[in-house]
Amino acid sequence: MRVVYSELMNAPAQGYSPSAAKPAAVMAAWLDAWPRLQVRAPVPVTREQLCLAHDAAFVDGVLSLRRPNGFATRSAEVAASLPWTSGALLTAARWALEVRGAVAAPVSGFHHAGWDRAADFCTFNGLMVAALALRAERPGLRVGILDYDYHYGNGTDDILDRVGREGIVHITAGERWHHDADPRAFLDNIHHDLQAMARCDLVLYQAGADPHVDDPLGGFLTTQQLAMRDWRVFAGLREMGIPVAWDLAGGYQDPLAKVVGIHVNTMRAVVQVEGGAV
Ligand SMILES: [Zn+2]
Repeated sequence: MRVVYSELMNAPAQGYSPSAAKPAAVMAAWLDAWPRLQVRAPVPVTREQLCLAHDAAFVDGVLSLRRPNGFATRSAEVAASLPWTSGALLTAARWALEVRGAVAAPVSGFHHAGWDRAADFCTFNGLMVAALALRAERPGLRVGILDYDYHYGNGTDDILDRVGREGIVHITAGERWHHDADPRAFLDNIHHDLQAMARCDLVLYQAGADPHVDDPLGGFLTTQQLAMRDWRVFAGLREMGIPVAWDLAGGYQDPLAKVVGIHVNTMRAVVQVEGGAV
């Protein structure tokens, strides 16, 4: 299985959110389970690529530590990690297109980051930076953003409202599925979400861990149901012949090992779908 990773994607955890430090923890667990993972280093995104999805003054303000980063800090370490975190998803997407398969980037997609604001543990919107950078280098490419984090990807919609939706299909489960939802209805609906992306050349799949029933900020899917979610997504996209770059999001259970376990299950789903070729 293919993973884009570098230690440069990490920063110390900020406040309540483990996201900044999670890549290393997830990578260690993946390598423990699958020692022969194919690993490529990310190509960091440029300021110009960040500015495709964000206001330039906002980008410069965050990178120069004059503006807060969404974690309510102005951490130089977080700022230094940002070109690498967005770069990881972009690199994974290019690799997925190259092999026409699945590639993982163990970073959050940071879907609450909007055009000119960081918010809710999100600085720059990696999903939108990747989508827009890809479309800039491959005109006409159609990109699906399948966001199965528990929360509404309001930042992604904010950026799409600003730059336009041409060539991008955005589905965010958090807009519709809440803690009182029927898990079976959610799982049965995955097929419809995938159909909405049938004409896409690539899907960015955000495999959020916080829809887990025990998550303090989420909650309606069991561990098995989350694994079924991931399996249906990867199997469906493979059947449709659509490459997928996938990332992490959310997950606030304590200890972090519970969240990491969910991300291990997502990788297991990929391995099962791709025929066990790791
Ligand atoms: Zn979330």
